[in-house]
Amino acid sequence: MSLLGSLQEHDTAIDHLRRRLGSLPERGAAHDLNERRHAVQAALVALGTRLDELAAAEEGVERELAVVEGRAASLDNTLRAPGSATRDAQAIIHEIDQLRAQAGGLEEQALELLEQRDALLNEQIRAQGELDQIAAEAPAILAAVAAAEGEAGAELKRLEAERVATAAGVDQGLLATYERLRPRLDGVAVAHVANGACTGCHLSLSAADLDHLTRLKPGEHATCEQCGRILIPS
Ligand SMILES: [Zn+2]
Repeated sequence: MSLLGSLQEHDTAIDHLRRRLGSLPERGAAHDLNERRHAVQAALVALGTRLDELAAAEEGVERELAVVEGRAASLDNTLRAPGSATRDAQAIIHEIDQLRAQAGGLEEQALELLEQRDALLNEQIRAQGELDQIAAEAPAILAAVAAAEGEAGAELKRLEAERVATAAGVDQGLLATYERLRPRLDGVAVAHVANGACTGCHLSLSAADLDHLTRLKPGEHATCEQCGRILIPS
């Protein structure tokens, strides 16, 4: 058989095995586990970002609170200082009250931010736990995949290695045509001639085409006019 024919046989067998292995329920479980891992990792990244934002907001509130409290304390000292003017006292007391109310509001904000952070930290711990759980489940699931694939998995690896070696021997231009045709023709780019017909599309070849085929030199090929497949002598 020609190298191209051998390549087609390998690819057909590989496609078949991949389909069979791809539909294994164990593969589905491994895929699901991977999806879960990605989702949890993405959630952890988002949580990290939100925690950073929250920390910045907390810092801002604390800074503002320190300024307000400092101002209130300073006014308080002015008020208590001996000899402070009584006529200003009312205004100072009023400002201190306002500052204290402002500080109260800021403290509430800080408390709210703290609660949000606690909730996010709990969420982070939960997500981390789930990631650990996934990591713990992974070996058994991967072992189940390997066991289910068994000989078929080993066979696929062998065929894939052989396929690489076979493709290396095929003329580059012909290989490019083959690779281009295969996806368009249901995975079969190479056909033979059987009983005067193309084995790809099963349509009869003209007498001229058949005659042309018999004259092909080794390494040469023809093309089926009807389906476009590469025709090789049987
Ligand atoms: Zn054909």
